Amino acid sequence: MADGWRPAPFREFVLKIHSRCDLACDYCYMYAMADQSWRSQPRRMSLATAEQAAKRIGEHVRQHGLEEIGLVLHGGEPLLAGPDLIAYLITAVRGAVGEGVIVHATVQTNGVGLDDPYLALFDKLGIRVGVSLDGSQSAQDRHRRFASGRSSHAAVTAGLRRLTAKRYRHLFGGLLCVIDLRNDPVDTYEALLEFKPPRIDFLFPHGTWESPPPGRALGTDDAPYADWLIAVFNQWYDYPQTDIRIFTEIVRLMLGGSSRNEVVGLGAASMLVIETNGSIEQVDTLKAAFHGAPRTGLHVEHDPLDAALELPEIAARQLGLRGLADECQKCRIRRICGGGLYTHRYRRGTGFANPSVYCPDLMRLISHIRETIEPDVAQNLAKLGAH
Ligand code: SF4
Repeated sequence: MADGWRPAPFREFVLKIHSRCDLACDYCYMYAMADQSWRSQPRRMSLATAEQAAKRIGEHVRQHGLEEIGLVLHGGEPLLAGPDLIAYLITAVRGAVGEGVIVHATVQTNGVGLDDPYLALFDKLGIRVGVSLDGSQSAQDRHRRFASGRSSHAAVTAGLRRLTAKRYRHLFGGLLCVIDLRNDPVDTYEALLEFKPPRIDFLFPHGTWESPPPGRALGTDDAPYADWLIAVFNQWYDYPQTDIRIFTEIVRLMLGGSSRNEVVGLGAASMLVIETNGSIEQVDTLKAAFHGAPRTGLHVEHDPLDAALELPEIAARQLGLRGLADECQKCRIRRICGGGLYTHRYRRGTGFANPSVYCPDLMRLISHIRETIEPDVAQNLAKLGAH
C-alpha cells in the first residue's frame, strides 16, 4: 500500500466444529441474535473440511513465518463434535504447520459434557479448556439453561470439578462470564473464584446501537456496566487472586504495552473463523450486528486464508486509530479504549464507524483504573528512584 500499511497475519483460528448446542442460552450470539446462518450449517465439521482447514492454516503459517498460533475449538458446543473429530483436527493442524510451530489449542465449552474420557484426550493432545459460567446457580440460571428450561448449573459445575481436580487442573484455561447487571458483581466474582480459575474473562453482553444491551440507556452518561466492573476491580486490585483479562489488558495498555485482544486497544484484529461447512468468516461476535455480518464469501476449499486479509472489512479492523470513528479519534482515552469491540459499534446507516454502544462504560471504567493505578505507579517509581 502507498502509505506503507501492510495487513497483519491471522494468529488465532477459531474452528466451529459443531454448529448446534446442548444448551439454549437466551443471549447466545450464535443462535439468538441477528445472524441466523447457523440454520444452513451442517451440524458437524466433516473430516474432509477439517483436513482442508488444517492445510489452509499451515499455508498461512508458512507464508508469514509464524512461530506460534492459537487454535480455538468452538461451536455451538464443540464437545458434541465427538473425540474422533477433535483428535483428527488437532493432529492435522499440528502436522500442517510443521515441527517448530507452537499450536496453543483450546476448547471453549459450556462444560456440560466435560467427562473423564474427554479430559484424558485433552491431556494427551495438550488442549486447554475454557468453560462458560455466569457465577452462582441463580446467576447461571438467568440465561444458561437447557432447551427444556432445566438449570445447567449442576452439570456445568460437575464438569468443572472434574477439570479442576489435581489430575487435570493444568488443562484449565479459565472461565468466561457474561455480565448481567442483576447479579451482584462481587458475589459473582467470588462464585467464579471457587474454581480457582487461572483467568476470568468478564464479557459485556453483545449489543449494538440498533439493539442496545440490557440496562444501557442510550443518550445518557449512565455507565452501569462500568459500575459493575469497578466493584470487581476494586476487590481484585486490593487482592488479585487471578488474571481478569479486561483489567489486565487495560493496565498493560496504560503501561505502554500493546493489546492482545479485540476488546480494548488498537491492536490489529488477528482472529479468523472457519465455519462448520468450511466457509471463512470474520470474528463470530459480528453475528450480533446483522444477518450475514461475518460473511466473507471465501471458503477453505478454494481460497487461501490470505485472501481474507485483502477484504475491506478485515482491513478496517487492522487500521488502528485510522479505523476508528471521528468521535473516537478525538477521544482522550482512544489508545486504551480503541473504540471497544468492533461488533458493539454497529449502527444502521453508518455501519461500524461509531463509538461503542458501551462508550460511557468504557470511559468510566478506564478512567477509574487510571485514577487508581497512577498514584501507585508514581509512588513506586519514586521509591525506586530513591534507591
Ligand atoms: S471511550 Fe467512547 S469515544 Fe472514547 S475511544 Fe472508547 S468508544 Fe470511542
